[in-house]
Amino acid sequence: MKCPKCKTKKTQVYNSRPHAGTVHRFRSCDCGHKFKTHEVVLDKPAKVVRLKAVKKKVKKQKVNIDLMSDDELMDALASGRITPDMLD
Ligand SMILES: [Zn+2]
Repeated sequence: MKCPKCKTKKTQVYNSRPHAGTVHRFRSCDCGHKFKTHEVVLDKPAKVVRLKAVKKKVKKQKVNIDLMSDDELMDALASGRITPDMLD
């Protein structure tokens, strides 16, 4: 924790007190400055955020009903790739 006065990172905690589900820490610095920090628990799992989200384009399968066998047509109907309307 940086000292707000001299910006050094060499600070010490000399007292901690729980406060309404949080912790107050009393810190002192080598420069003589004393300050207080307030620690809050964020009860959320840390998430890795990808800066470049790779969006995979779902390739729509080209359905050519005329070239399909009956079994393939039934499979396509069952999986929702084609609708009964398309068979007309
Ligand atoms: Zn300081």
